[in-house]
Amino acid sequence: TKFSSKNVRQTFIDFFEQKHQHLYVPSSPVRPRGDPSLLFVNAGMNQFKPILLGAVDPRSEMARYRRVVNSQKCVRAGGKHNDLDDVGRDIYHHTFFEMMGSWSFGDYFKEEACAMAWSLLTEHYGMSPDRLYVSYFSGDAASGLPADEETRHIWLDIGVQKDRILPFGLQENFWEMGDTGPCGPCSEIHYDHLGGRDASPLVNTGSPEVVELWNLVFMQYNREADGSLRPLPQQSVDTGLGLERLLAVLQDKRSNYDTDLFSPLLDHIHQVSRCGPYGGRVAPGLEGRVDMAYRVVADHVRTLAVCIADGVSPGMSGPELVLRRILRRAVRFSTEVLQAPQGALGSLVPTVVQVLVSLYADLDSINTTSHQELARINQTSHPEPGSSNLPLMAAPVAWSLHRNLGFPLDLLQLILEERGLQVDQVLLDQLLARNHKRGSEPAVASESETHLDVHTLASLKQQGIKHTDQSPKYQYNLH
Ligand code: ATP
Ligand code: MG
Ligand code: MG
Ligand code: MG
Repeated sequence: TKFSSKNVRQTFIDFFEQKHQHLYVPSSPVRPRGDPSLLFVNAGMNQFKPILLGAVDPRSEMARYRRVVNSQKCVRAGGKHNDLDDVGRDIYHHTFFEMMGSWSFGDYFKEEACAMAWSLLTEHYGMSPDRLYVSYFSGDAASGLPADEETRHIWLDIGVQKDRILPFGLQENFWEMGDTGPCGPCSEIHYDHLGGRDASPLVNTGSPEVVELWNLVFMQYNREADGSLRPLPQQSVDTGLGLERLLAVLQDKRSNYDTDLFSPLLDHIHQVSRCGPYGGRVAPGLEGRVDMAYRVVADHVRTLAVCIADGVSPGMSGPELVLRRILRRAVRFSTEVLQAPQGALGSLVPTVVQVLVSLYADLDSINTTSHQELARINQTSHPEPGSSNLPLMAAPVAWSLHRNLGFPLDLLQLILEERGLQVDQVLLDQLLARNHKRGSEPAVASESETHLDVHTLASLKQQGIKHTDQSPKYQYNLH
């Protein structure tokens, strides 16, 4: 069909390649090459960072890139761009997704970039302009960055209605790759899934009714290690359009999970589960929980398959540790909520591969590697919670680690089990529930909890667990 994932991806590439003289460059693997600032590839521009910085070997092929198009495998489960906590809870964030992108390296700039994006969406994909909103950077006095009035005028000239062009600040409209790296003001295109009303107040609020589709970044600076902004040697354009979100629009669905990238996988999960079929609910309550589990398992198994195929397997530190948490969550949700048998995850891999067929050159070997690896890990993974006789770690100790140091509870459980311990889950649940009731009270540690911290850290140390970093989520090293 016209708007199958395969056709939609190809239409994007053809538009830039054939109509606008861009060179197609294949996706890089999800493991970043020679960039210690990243856990996973989190955007299409990662592999082109040296070009943006003016740091590319002049003899290399990359040095000749002026206009480029691709569809990049991205993982956002750690570091600056981390969507792990939203996955499953909402219907448009994934840990693994495809970012289709177009670039100008010192070639065209804002005007052409906006015109191309608008033409592709409205003429080639046939979207109605009265479902679209665009944003521009409103400036930031503290960092001395001016408002991007130029982009506002470009959208007006293209014919976008005045009240559909919205200003936003640093958070939404100044894109940065990580704590350091290329960055610049951006302009985004958002889609109103309902229509027939003024949806401008919903843009950038996290509402599933108005979803961000495409980000056009005007790369002009590098964020240095000391936090300052250094102007780049040339002005470049870097755009990213989420394939799954675009498909939801074109296939007339409200949710990414109802598109042809997910439906076969959700059907397969249904076959191995002992629950009713996927119902698409995001509400709290039992049914919402089952549907969330469907989304988590579908998302995570895609991420696991793609990462393993690209050489990142669940392991002990860095991206491998992140992947281990993802595996652990997938196993949890599939066995505990969906009641699938142990080992079910591995059996889903062929469906993932079948859906993502266009991403891979060597289908068979990926199928086999991911399948075997997942099957192996899935079999040897943790004992059933509550069913083992492992010694208990006191719940308040786990709780205080979590609350005072932000240590993720599932990671803690994982570490403990591998060291022959488990958390006293019953008591921990009580503590969590009690805290939930206290609700909005500030999370100040009580004296006894603070006391426990010292205690806890000492006991963790004894067990050889080192807590190396307190701020960035999910970046822990085990020694
Ligand atoms: P959001 O605000 O929705 O989290 P973002 O601003 O973080 O998105 P960008 O960094 O601008 O996203 O990435 C470019 C595009 O990639 C987005 O406009 C969106 O279409 C897509 N995208 C980003 N994160 C995800 C994700 N976790 N899952 C699926 N698509 C995503
Ligand atoms: Mg985001
Ligand atoms: Mg955004
Ligand atoms: Mg964005």
